Amino acid sequence: MRAQHPAFGPEERLLTQPDRSPIRVQWLGTAGFRIEFEKHVVLIDPYLTRASLAQCILGPVRSDTSAIARILPRADAILVGHTHFDHVLDVPDIARMTGATVYGSWSAARLCLAQGVAPERVHIVESGAGSAPNVVQSGPMRIRFLRSAHSGLIAGRAPFPGELEPSKGEPMRVERYRCGSVFTIEIEVGGRRLVHMGSARLVDDTPTGETDLLMLCTAGWRTSREFPERVVRAYAPRAVVLSHWDDFTRPIDQRARVLPAMGVGTLARRVEQQASHPRVGTTELLGAVIV
Ligand SMILES: [Zn+2]
Repeated sequence: MRAQHPAFGPEERLLTQPDRSPIRVQWLGTAGFRIEFEKHVVLIDPYLTRASLAQCILGPVRSDTSAIARILPRADAILVGHTHFDHVLDVPDIARMTGATVYGSWSAARLCLAQGVAPERVHIVESGAGSAPNVVQSGPMRIRFLRSAHSGLIAGRAPFPGELEPSKGEPMRVERYRCGSVFTIEIEVGGRRLVHMGSARLVDDTPTGETDLLMLCTAGWRTSREFPERVVRAYAPRAVVLSHWDDFTRPIDQRARVLPAMGVGTLARRVEQQASHPRVGTTELLGAVIV
């Protein structure tokens, strides 16, 4: 990690609460995380394949099943924040290989069903406009899916908008991975609250109470006005792991490299200034922190 980005140490404990079972939060690159509490494993937006730029430009992309078998041999649930390829490409294969249940949008469900995930393991979490967010229970974890939106990464607009229409069983080009609905995901487990923002956009500024760990997307944060300040007011994080700042066309086994113009250090500083005593940082690729 470069010096201008605050970095957490390996397996660093971010909160002091010695009497509680640890929650281990591993960063998988992009917006991907693996969260483990008392042997229950939930994945969010896991993307290990990290197709090269040439693969992304030239043709359909396939998920790297050997990386999945090696790094994510076991999962109970997979949560999908939105269905761009760098969030959802590996989800059908991980679900098939681990037997995990998938929770996501209509787009996520259509993709999984087209790629052979058993229907009883596919759970749609869309809620209508104005209705309460969907809540599901996965082992000890209570999970809420809050409707959100994608950041305007390309000239103020979200890339690849619309619903994903999969082709049955065939690999697809990256542009066919349409965004679908976008969710901020909140997990309550072991008396703690974790929030995952997989895209740097906040649609509701209402304060929601204290958050023990916020997994915050970096890509495109400057396209949302006063993004760091508004996020801190809304979620009051005690600790923040910054994600989605890495060049995800590089293999999973190499060190993470910061994409140009991400402004990771600036985002970290502004979050720190706004919050009272936050821990803000990054981890290495496949590194983990404990909350
Ligand atoms: Zn996206």
